[in-house]
Amino acid sequence: ALDKEQMQGLRGIREFLKVRTSYDVLPLSFRLVVLDNDLLIRKSLNILLQNGIVSAPLWDSRSSTFAGLLTSTDYINVIQYYCQFPDEIDQVDQFRLSSLRGSGAKAVHLDIERAIGVLPLETVSVHPMRPLYEACRRMLKTRARRIPLVDVDDETGREMVVSVITQYRILKFIAVNNEKHTILLKKGLREIGLGTYTKLATASMSNSVLDVIHLMVKHNISAVPIVNAENKVLNVFEAVDVIPCIKGGAYDELSSSVGDALSKRAEDFPGIYICSEDDRLDAVFETIRKSRVHRLIVVDDDNRLRGIISLSDILKYVLLYGEEDDDIRGG
Ligand code: ADP
Repeated sequence: ALDKEQMQGLRGIREFLKVRTSYDVLPLSFRLVVLDNDLLIRKSLNILLQNGIVSAPLWDSRSSTFAGLLTSTDYINVIQYYCQFPDEIDQVDQFRLSSLRGSGAKAVHLDIERAIGVLPLETVSVHPMRPLYEACRRMLKTRARRIPLVDVDDETGREMVVSVITQYRILKFIAVNNEKHTILLKKGLREIGLGTYTKLATASMSNSVLDVIHLMVKHNISAVPIVNAENKVLNVFEAVDVIPCIKGGAYDELSSSVGDALSKRAEDFPGIYICSEDDRLDAVFETIRKSRVHRLIVVDDDNRLRGIISLSDILKYVLLYGEEDDDIRGG
């Protein structure tokens, strides 16, 4: 009976995502900070920090086109570049946002992605009036945590970035508008195997920020739990925590400890959310409904680390669990 209810809940949510559009997720009024691709990377950091945001769409004013999404991954790429070419720090200071990506014909400038040998981030976007389900599927497929909504202006035929939606916004939208389905999700987290429980990447307070960044890059993850010698969870270092660390081009500060860096967090830091393996998925949705959750850290009764549940883990389960068509599971 639990199985049946769970599937009924999941199907309800999937139906909901198919009849709503990405546009529906947007609040009635919102602010969108778009950055010019010619801006110095150093300056972009301040703008993000001043506006309390961690990402922004980029605009190429020469071609009047959307030029991708700036995220903490881009700053991590710059840091890796700095680590590989430490003598070029003066040059790093002069980098513009347009140097982040190789952009086909205009690739006369330096391309940081290529220089450090990472795969270019695909610039995926969705049309705001397409079903929300489509945006979710595309995010899972490309592993993007956020996706720009791009429309084309009828008169000029030009692209316009309407907004950006995140996995967090989508899960919040589900949690707030779909309680009648989320309350059916009564299975325990352990039972449904939600999240990652083996080979967890962790660090200690005395590790350097750079150590943690290297861990995130190596494992392709956006957060590293900070634990003590008994594996008790003290904090979590997130990819977005990198932004205040390199403010003002202070790359040498990356060798300072994680503990120091975390003490610089903004006042409105939403906090860390923990749960137990015995909790149920309906409780997770309840937490998402009430709070700004970006991941859940699974701990035992003694606060020892057991696992980590990312928003992508939740979204993947909600969209794909029990789907018969196997080939849609890739990515
Ligand atoms: P998201 O894509 O939602 O930002 P992450 O990049 O942090 O989430 O997580 C990607 C995958 O890696 C998820 O399946 C998650 O469970 C797992 N994961 C996240 N953090 C860690 C970690 N510190 N150690 C091992 N696995 C992790």
